[in-house]
Amino acid sequence: MRFPATARISLDALNHNVRVIRKRWPGMPIMAMVKANAYGHGLVAIAKAFESVDSLAVARTDEARQLRAAGIEKPLVLLEGVFDTQGMRLAAELGCELVVHNDTQLTMLSDWSGAERFTVWLKVDTGMNRLGFDVGKADEMRAALSRMPSVRETRLMTHFACADASDGISMTAQLERWQAATAQFEGTVSVANSPALLRDDDVLSDAMAHRMPEHCWLRPGIALYGISPFDGVAAASFGLKPVMNFESRLIAVRELEAGDAVGYGGRFVAERPMRVGIAAAGYGDGYPRMLPDGTPVLVDGARCALAGRVSMDMLSVDLTHAPEATVGSLVRLWGEDNPAESVASAIGTIAYELVTRVSERVHRVYE
Ligand SMILES: *Cc1c(COP(=O)(O)O)cnc(C)c1O
Repeated sequence: MRFPATARISLDALNHNVRVIRKRWPGMPIMAMVKANAYGHGLVAIAKAFESVDSLAVARTDEARQLRAAGIEKPLVLLEGVFDTQGMRLAAELGCELVVHNDTQLTMLSDWSGAERFTVWLKVDTGMNRLGFDVGKADEMRAALSRMPSVRETRLMTHFACADASDGISMTAQLERWQAATAQFEGTVSVANSPALLRDDDVLSDAMAHRMPEHCWLRPGIALYGISPFDGVAAASFGLKPVMNFESRLIAVRELEAGDAVGYGGRFVAERPMRVGIAAAGYGDGYPRMLPDGTPVLVDGARCALAGRVSMDMLSVDLTHAPEATVGSLVRLWGEDNPAESVASAIGTIAYELVTRVSERVHRVYE
């Protein structure tokens, strides 16, 4: 038990999830999101494991640097572009594609005197109001970019704010603005994150129908990691498999009397004689301290419940439903049969945040 807290990462599940997306959107290239340490799954290992994605996207030049240093040769996209000329030089050296979303980045491109030429993803804002140029200026911006010697090719992208909302109203409104401003553009585009790709309506496919599939880049992130982007809809209902199993082991078992309290603050108090197990995982590993009593925890496959406040290195579990459990028993905090989505919803957050915050000391095992 050298590494009790472990994230077992299934590369089979990862590539299975790529196939799920490919099957729904045949012929369209996939730009796989590996930003934020591949959503906590391990940047380089995940990038190397993808069998058939067409490019990889990161948020920071340093992530791109790590990928190139590890020998990854796939196209790399910098989702926020570069922030200064030093970043731009690094991006050129690493051969990154650049998202361009503000005037500073346009100026940097027009001032670029290096020999390298960039593939540019011009980001237009269709209603999220985060990054991007007003969508009405897409043509003008595209023309400006096409005159710059530093630009090899200009592509267009936008990002949805509410693709996970069940009514789809906001996504439809964004797509309408997108269509109105880009219908004449016959080049390469990219619009869809995981929720847009998994929705059960035809809003997106209708909007893409007039384009060649090979010109429509998909941008899935969370779906590739086997997590549902929709509140209350299981990933399994799309055929997705969780990639991360976040696990540890019991390192102690206590017999409690009625009235005994467990852990800091004595938050959990036994109502009757019972057993609790102490597992070697805590908020120092990325298991949130905010989680309430009753949060599902699997012990040797049996559904048990968190009992007491999460410590830095440990947590305690009610073993009523795992009477055979003992020191060394396997504890699954999330993963198969215990979706990270359910754990996240217990504290009003999303599984994206949980998997991304699994800390560095957690041993990642790829299988
Ligand atoms: C992270 C990100 C995505 C992927 O989003 P998911 O919801 O994880 O699929 C797509 N596009 C952009 C611009 C992103 O930053």
